[in-house]
Amino acid sequence: MQLGVVPVVLPRTDAQFLARIEADARAYGGEAWLADVRDEAHAWALEHEEPTRRSAYLSLMWQLVDARRAELVGQVVPTPDGRFRTVTPARCSAEHSWDVPGAWVASWMGCRGRGPNGQRDHRGHHRWLCLVPNTDGSECRREVIYPEPTEDCSFVGIG
Ligand SMILES: [Zn+2]
Ligand SMILES: [Zn+2]
Repeated sequence: MQLGVVPVVLPRTDAQFLARIEADARAYGGEAWLADVRDEAHAWALEHEEPTRRSAYLSLMWQLVDARRAELVGQVVPTPDGRFRTVTPARCSAEHSWDVPGAWVASWMGCRGRGPNGQRDHRGHHRWLCLVPNTDGSECRREVIYPEPTEDCSFVGIG
């Protein structure tokens, strides 16, 4: 398996935004799930009059894909070019969007943690550090750790 850094292209138009959402939906759930999302967003859009119908469609698509992404954080999904990537959180706890280049740095913490049944159930945690500036210009530095550490976690090589 090849893990690559996927270049982030920021959407500038609705069409680009939709293409991005659909590519994510495909990665997170395959064609069948994308079709479900389209159906649901389409039904929702029909409840809106023009000219807000298209933005209603986009916004529901985005919400569904965003929720799915949150469930998949830390898991590996395929990319359109046949590679794989780890699903990253969409934002830090201060709501800074992480869909911009250079928004975060990723690291890995080894862990000898055990699950509720006493079995070793994970080998470590993903850690993402937010580099987005706060409104006062200081660096955010909030971390998102996945899976969330529990009291049974025992980090390797960290004091
Ligand atoms: Zn942040
Ligand atoms: Zn752990």
